[in-house]
Amino acid sequence: KLKVAVLTSGGDSAGMNAAVRAVVKGSILQGCETWIVREGYEGLVRGNTESADTAASREAPQNANLKVYDSDFIANLRFGDGTLLRDGTADFSDGRSLHGRYIVRVGWDDVRGWFSEGGTLIGTARSTTFRTNEGRLKAAYNLIKEGIDALVVCGGDGSLTGADVFRAEWPTLVATLRSEGRISEEQAKYHGHLRIVGLVGSIDNDMSMTDMTIGAPTALHRICEAIDSIHSTALSHSRAFVLEVMGRHCGWLALLAGVSSGADFVFIPERPPQCIPWEDEMCEAIQRQRGVGKRKTIVIVAEGAHDKELNPIRADHVKDVLSERLGLDTRVTTLGHTQRGGRPCAMDRLLPTLQGLDAVDALLEATPETPSYMIGVRENKITRVPLMEAVAMTRSVAQLISEKNFEKAMELRDPEFKE
Ligand code: ADP
Repeated sequence: KLKVAVLTSGGDSAGMNAAVRAVVKGSILQGCETWIVREGYEGLVRGNTESADTAASREAPQNANLKVYDSDFIANLRFGDGTLLRDGTADFSDGRSLHGRYIVRVGWDDVRGWFSEGGTLIGTARSTTFRTNEGRLKAAYNLIKEGIDALVVCGGDGSLTGADVFRAEWPTLVATLRSEGRISEEQAKYHGHLRIVGLVGSIDNDMSMTDMTIGAPTALHRICEAIDSIHSTALSHSRAFVLEVMGRHCGWLALLAGVSSGADFVFIPERPPQCIPWEDEMCEAIQRQRGVGKRKTIVIVAEGAHDKELNPIRADHVKDVLSERLGLDTRVTTLGHTQRGGRPCAMDRLLPTLQGLDAVDALLEATPETPSYMIGVRENKITRVPLMEAVAMTRSVAQLISEKNFEKAMELRDPEFKE
């Protein structure tokens, strides 16, 4: 009987709760015991410093429905890198998720209603300690102490790299814990192999070897809603709007938002404007539209956008060009964190559910010889690809862009790509 734990790590995204729900319910259906790890890898490193009984017997907070426990204590807690620990963890109202316990046994009811919640209820974090061998040794000890032998990580390429490092190092970590006498011979033998599977949670849709990441459809939807709102005022006043959208090194959000909302010009990292200076190319395209009577102008700038020489393209500069050269009344709108989440759209419930269930199957089928898998989706079919291959390819795309080899980067991301 496997003991399965699930954690969310790195940047939050809509649909992470659905992924956790699917892993919890899927593994219970398969006869496993299920656990959640709060606050990503940081929770693994911190582990449980008090027993479940102590945590459960502690007086319940006065307003348990608020989903915030002991907020003064939590507000003062800081991670190793100085960032504040988030509050707002899941409301396990029997007290099992109190702050002395980061690795919490959960049941069917604990994840009820999680579909429609944005972000991640079990918390996420960026953990500097997990990047160190010492931190990972603590994490391994905390897992073995609870008897957990399988782990699902939902996060971006950083989190999945961490998962791969952890699995590769696992035998050495177990040997060290045994030699230090912290675990028994039986424990060392039983935990000789860590089963680990990755789910890609990222609003950017920036992972290679999968068509869609968990959270990207909701982020795209939020951006389209924002453009719709801007559309009416732009049309009324015949204005131009420059929108800066997220996506890190990936232009997927910007490009798809542009296509879905009829934008006039889109700047993405993978295909910078062909002209130098690019200002001429943009102005010409917009003038053409205005010339046939279009009353509004929408320009979208991906946060990682740059010209062919890799000089960043900034929304404020685009605004100045539109105002000064075309005489347009231009405003900049930065959507910021509003695009990260909120209520997940249907796709961000369906995809993580199907992927979470497959993650459990992959854990059950894993052997020391099989690679750690990343669960993806290709042409509407749930897929498994070696986690490290997907991460390596994602990094290669970023590398090719930084070498100004844009076409090769696009080809690597999508082998069927043609200009
Ligand atoms: P994302 O998963 O969204 O890409 P990060 O790149 O910040 O976000 O990674 C999330 C966490 O994954 C990091 O805070 C760290 O704890 C862990 N991690 C990332 N890279 C590594 C690595 N090379 N070794 C160990 N842990 C890593």
